[in-house]
Amino acid sequence: MPPTRPGSSPKTGGGVGIPNSSFLTPHSVSVRYHRHVNKRTFSHLAVVGVVGFLSLAFACQSGGPPEVRADRVVMVSYDSLGADLAWRWISDETVSSPDGLAGMAQHGFSAERLRMVDPTLTAVNHISLAAGRDAAGTGVVGNSFHKPDTLITDWVSGFTASSDAETLWTAARRNGLRVGTLVWPGGDAGAVDRIGDFGAVWPGPPLASSELVELDPGTAETTGEVPSNDGLAPLLWRQVINLGSAAPNDQELLIALVDADPNGRPRYDTVAVRLADEDDWGYVGEMEWLEIDFEARAGDDLRPHLYGSWCKVLHIDRFTGALRFYRGEVNRLHAYPDAFEDRLTEAIGPWPGEPDRAVGDWWLDLSQGVDLDTFIEQGERLNRYIDRMTEWVLAEEDADLILAYHSPLDVYLHASLITDELQWAYSPGRALAAREGLKRMGRSIDRSVASLWGALEPERDALVVVSDHGQIPIFEVVRPNRALADAGLVRVVDEDGRSRVAPDTPMVAVAGGALIHLYLNLAGREPGGVVTMAEAPELLRRAARVLADLEAEDQPAVEKIYTRGEAAAIGLDHPSSGDLVVFLAPGFAAAGGLDGPALGPSRYYGQHGFLASHDEMFGVLFARGAGIKKKRFGEVEATAVAPMIARWLGFELGDPPETTIDR
Ligand SMILES: [Zn+2]
Repeated sequence: MPPTRPGSSPKTGGGVGIPNSSFLTPHSVSVRYHRHVNKRTFSHLAVVGVVGFLSLAFACQSGGPPEVRADRVVMVSYDSLGADLAWRWISDETVSSPDGLAGMAQHGFSAERLRMVDPTLTAVNHISLAAGRDAAGTGVVGNSFHKPDTLITDWVSGFTASSDAETLWTAARRNGLRVGTLVWPGGDAGAVDRIGDFGAVWPGPPLASSELVELDPGTAETTGEVPSNDGLAPLLWRQVINLGSAAPNDQELLIALVDADPNGRPRYDTVAVRLADEDDWGYVGEMEWLEIDFEARAGDDLRPHLYGSWCKVLHIDRFTGALRFYRGEVNRLHAYPDAFEDRLTEAIGPWPGEPDRAVGDWWLDLSQGVDLDTFIEQGERLNRYIDRMTEWVLAEEDADLILAYHSPLDVYLHASLITDELQWAYSPGRALAAREGLKRMGRSIDRSVASLWGALEPERDALVVVSDHGQIPIFEVVRPNRALADAGLVRVVDEDGRSRVAPDTPMVAVAGGALIHLYLNLAGREPGGVVTMAEAPELLRRAARVLADLEAEDQPAVEKIYTRGEAAAIGLDHPSSGDLVVFLAPGFAAAGGLDGPALGPSRYYGQHGFLASHDEMFGVLFARGAGIKKKRFGEVEATAVAPMIARWLGFELGDPPETTIDR
């Protein structure tokens, strides 16, 4: 279907939405104090109005959200679980656990779909789910974005940004409740308002990346430490895992291949593995996993930690002894406070890592990268790990509210939403494999829901299942900074052989998924800003035209362009929003870098960040337990979730103290 392009065509005029002057409101260039106060007061009033309206809509609908009192609430988010996908899984019985998603729908209350806030990005919507405000109300306007009064080349991550509006974890603690945040986006423990009483945080880059190694029998030594049969001497290889600046700065892994079966036929069939400084070998067969654990202290660790790497024997040539071995990335659990981290690591082990994006190489060439089975098994493992974390917390910690987050479905869909012949990796067979793999991810989520339900007490606890958006297939990547640089609107410098956006650029695009915030480098707003107020309208008009003209396969890349002021219509008119807010059309995704052409085929296949009005961007809402009656709602706003949970636990979400002081 050709995507619609409401008013974004420069040829038809008018629709691009660059008004003559209104895109720069007067208070956005007044002195800082007044602008801050004006803006905050305005956005607060606007947000109160919107939230009030939405709550009313929810309340009018079939009697409103259930009025229950819960001793404990667990809210779990499955990233990228779209409403249509979840309901399809329930109706076609892809998911069938009695206490899984179908059980939630059958015994609890559910929404046909959860209307997410714009932009439909992970950090944005997890903060909105926790704060009950849209992006203009939280100030978390993207997975990354630029803040006014900072250098144009300074961007912040939405995953480590504080919300302007109070979150559930802060409000609950203010009311004397104990809160655990289990890798919930935005709960990064980086500030007093981004922390619970205890929790786990997203671990960041691994200590060592994963590695696929082809072990050649011609280079093997042998060893007498492991038994082998039928006259085959063990083959032995030594692999060094480089740990960079950590102490120790590497680990040596011994990998042996033997014939474990004394059946008279000399065939290699089993791999033995140990670390060089340990004594015991672990044994695994082909397609089996093993975990390697060791203590290390990374450069930014304050103390040694237990690190782990999940490894898999991918292929054994039984005759020649050639071995294909996957050494998973090296990770640890990051949790707070330290004593909690120690106990949790002891109970569930190191962080196992996400599904390996090297599956992207496999989709293009089945002899390369990480195969789909391995990729899915990694996703199942991480889902199960978060479940064990949540179950352990429920059993061991005195918690009133737990927020838990699962990323594997999101990783799966980005890498493997292969449905369309325009996509690079598409073939009917690959689309089928991707579809079948997706069902496995659905069953993994279903088992997760069932296990959480099993860990709760139905009479007094409530389980709430949500998500942050779905995904849409993409075939083309847009590099807005490259397109704008080609048009002379973004200034580029060469730094160590790499192209970078120059500090004196007139503008820059900060991209995430299908969303682009385009910021002017405005004199008086950005330090060192180079664009005057008089030049601004024309520059924005030119930038909008450049972006609106991008197309591939006869489809325009851009669906809609808003000025910041116009973005009030979608709850995105925050001072940190772009001077232009650009939404790409289904089929396209944006990349912020300059390392490629303005348009090119995508090497990954699913994305989000599209306008929340697209059916695929709706998320899910299910709740069960604590006296919740069975009820089916139609469409519910994502911003209604946090106030509902607060009421169940007996408190109200309020304003953060700093807002009060500002006034
Ligand atoms: Zn997400």
